[in-house]
Amino acid sequence: ASKTGPAEWDGSGRTADGHPVKVLGNVGSPSDARAARDAGAEGVGLFRTEFCYLDAPAEPTVAEQRAAYAAVLRPFAGKPVIVRTLDAGADKPLAFLAPEAEPNPALGVRGVRVAFDRPGVLDRQLEAIAGAAADSGADVSVMAPMVATAAEAAWFAERVRAAGIGRAGVMIEVPAAALAAREIFDAVDFVSIGTNDLAQYTFAADRQLGAVAALNDPWQPTLLRLIAMVGEAARATGKPVGVCGEAAADPLLARVLTGLGVTSLSMNAAAIRAVGASLAAVTRPQCEAAARDALAAADAAAARAAASAATG
Ligand code: PEP
Ligand code: MG
Repeated sequence: ASKTGPAEWDGSGRTADGHPVKVLGNVGSPSDARAARDAGAEGVGLFRTEFCYLDAPAEPTVAEQRAAYAAVLRPFAGKPVIVRTLDAGADKPLAFLAPEAEPNPALGVRGVRVAFDRPGVLDRQLEAIAGAAADSGADVSVMAPMVATAAEAAWFAERVRAAGIGRAGVMIEVPAAALAAREIFDAVDFVSIGTNDLAQYTFAADRQLGAVAALNDPWQPTLLRLIAMVGEAARATGKPVGVCGEAAADPLLARVLTGLGVTSLSMNAAAIRAVGASLAAVTRPQCEAAARDALAAADAAAARAAASAATG
């Protein structure tokens, strides 16, 4: 009962012994949203809003943004959707933000940092998101990318609440944020771990560079340690913690993440059924054993083998 390959899934995210783990979709367009829904996603764990801005010579108006977001939210009427605010910077340049050239764009003014300089851009986006939530009937939460400190998280949550949006969260994708997970949870309603950037910044290894891809392996036990710290803080505060990086799409790693305390997993549509089926085939204690053994492994390959042995 431990296969991680293609298997049946009844569409309800939980382990064999009934521990709930939401299986959610990552989306960036209306067609993505329909694909995620059709694959059985219970909601959306990451809506990347950049698409709405990418080709825009000027900042899209609130009305334009509202219509664009509502088109993505509509397939998930009545379901939970986490909308991520604009994640741009010199590495994801937007013409109207006129980013200054930076020697290290991945370490520059990107993600939520853009909003500190231009809070009006954030406030207009939040107004549009609140409107799109009302138009679509989706149960919307909002989170910020690239948060590094609890103070930044508190600043963001205050603006989200001022916009009348019920739940505010942040992504944990900077190692400092993982280390400050407890203080960050005190400032927000939920967090979501972006393992793509968390690995990049933990290993100082460009996520787009093939030559350092082995360091960016989400099975690296030191990355799992950071995730475990966030899972521990989630348990202590009783608040939800998701994973929305590529790691969530690996059916075996999904078991380990569940064992580390993660309460939702968000992925591309193609991975949804396999991850749902993988979780349904094992118990929570098996997931916890897989997590314990993977954490203790010497390297990524050994962690994978240990997780497979623990749940196989
Ligand atoms: C991540 O960093 O893991 C993530 C989900 O965000 P993005 O891939 O959009 O940077
Ligand atoms: Mg990221």
